[in-house]
Amino acid sequence: MITIAAFSLLVGCAKTPTYDDLRTTCGFSPEESTPEPFLDGRIISADCATALGEATGVNWDMFGGGPHELDGPDDDVGDLVIVGLYTYLFSDLGTYHDIKVETYDNEAIWLAFQDSDHYGDLVDTDPAGKFWLRWLTTNITDGIMPDDSGRASDMMYASYGMGRMWVNRDDVDAGTDDVFMGEALAHEAAHALVRPHLRSESGIVYDETSGGAFGAGAHWAWDWWKRNAAADPERCAPAYQEILFECVRIGEWGGFAPCATEQTGMPDGVCPPS
Ligand SMILES: [Zn+2]
Repeated sequence: MITIAAFSLLVGCAKTPTYDDLRTTCGFSPEESTPEPFLDGRIISADCATALGEATGVNWDMFGGGPHELDGPDDDVGDLVIVGLYTYLFSDLGTYHDIKVETYDNEAIWLAFQDSDHYGDLVDTDPAGKFWLRWLTTNITDGIMPDDSGRASDMMYASYGMGRMWVNRDDVDAGTDDVFMGEALAHEAAHALVRPHLRSESGIVYDETSGGAFGAGAHWAWDWWKRNAAADPERCAPAYQEILFECVRIGEWGGFAPCATEQTGMPDGVCPPS
């Protein structure tokens, strides 16, 4: 019995790190409750990269390399996944309450709200990043790994199947930044909850409504953009394009707020001159 007890204790120690654990490991003090607008100037420590990889099942054997100190996006795909995950810890994405009142019309996110087993302990004042990180760990249950199938196309930056997220090594490169990768993670995780995309006769992958994975990705990117982009003149307009990347693949977006300017373009005067 003693042996069993000791074994249980060891297993208990290996629990998945939580949002709060990760914030601590990544060097945020408990008082630093307001996340920061952008990554420039921040160092992601090797311990932080290791913990983010463990929390989400980043498969370093397949990506190659391994977790190490990072000072921003580069051209290594495994590193870009870490940078995208880090966005969930440091970006201002609002609060859990904000997501609940601003959830627009996305079926996947509504389903998450009703899943008290995974989200029931969240309170309104929690950072929204805590919800979104839980979204990843609840829906991407079998790890994140590279897709080396060579099927490069602008539709296939990443894909999802059976709890596993694949990142297309051909398409994700130095031009991919933390916001894009953050959005891709949110999008792929939604596939655990909603129907797969449709494909038009001309081969365009799309969703009929804003309720699917494109809507979830747009939701995340919009939440990032409206709170952070104005502080980041260099990336304000490019980040808006990432919202549109998702929105143009939604057949009927109706009143879905993240896509409301899909036809008219970015609102005037929001991005400062870069
Ligand atoms: Zn998708």
